[in-house]
Amino acid sequence: MAFEFIVFDLDDTLYPRGSGVMEAIGDQIQAWVRKELDLSRQEATELRRRYLRQYGTTMGGLMTEHGVDVGRYLSFVHDIPVEEYLEPNPALARMLGQIPLRKVIYTNATLEHGLRVLRALRVTDQFERVIGIQEVGLRNKVSREAYERMLALLEAHPAGCIMVEDSPRNLRAAKALGMTTVLVDAHEDGGLGGADDHCIDFAVDTVLEVRLVVDELIGPTGVAPMTEMPHTG
Ligand SMILES: [Mg+2]
Repeated sequence: MAFEFIVFDLDDTLYPRGSGVMEAIGDQIQAWVRKELDLSRQEATELRRRYLRQYGTTMGGLMTEHGVDVGRYLSFVHDIPVEEYLEPNPALARMLGQIPLRKVIYTNATLEHGLRVLRALRVTDQFERVIGIQEVGLRNKVSREAYERMLALLEAHPAGCIMVEDSPRNLRAAKALGMTTVLVDAHEDGGLGGADDHCIDFAVDTVLEVRLVVDELIGPTGVAPMTEMPHTG
């Protein structure tokens, strides 16, 4: 089946880890948990660790065990000055411009946060759509249903989609559904190797290398190689 879509995760995928965005969101989550549940720093940290393990996100635990107002929670935790952490990235814009597929952002964060990040990186016009966690019924990417809903919104067939992510465990459901998976900048949330190996089709160091993977999958998308140039005269 021909590829039609390339779906990018947002945070720590479109920009390098350690830029400060996820750290700032983490601080907001911590602040919310401490204040709303009246916990010490250590209690909050331990609770979040358990929720991550058990539900995939802190929000999953807060929804299931505390029935939190999710809209209020999500806007609070994403209320960070994104533009203080991210700069316009012309190389990223160029790379995206060279990929001849329909480009979409799919994030476990909110649509609004997605738009803010794209604006800060100056790549908004490269994407036809941003899908956030509220658009997939608050499921997160550890669940198959989240991906099914995302694909339904796009009216996309999984075999026609490339999924680009920095988190191996978020690629499990994508791969199981039949998407082609690209891991960017592998890290410790499962890392490479062991049980996650089978869910990763390609691994690259930075998002700028994604185009090379696309070239390999659908053929070169930039300048045609010399041998294929039409002869003149
Ligand atoms: Mg990510």
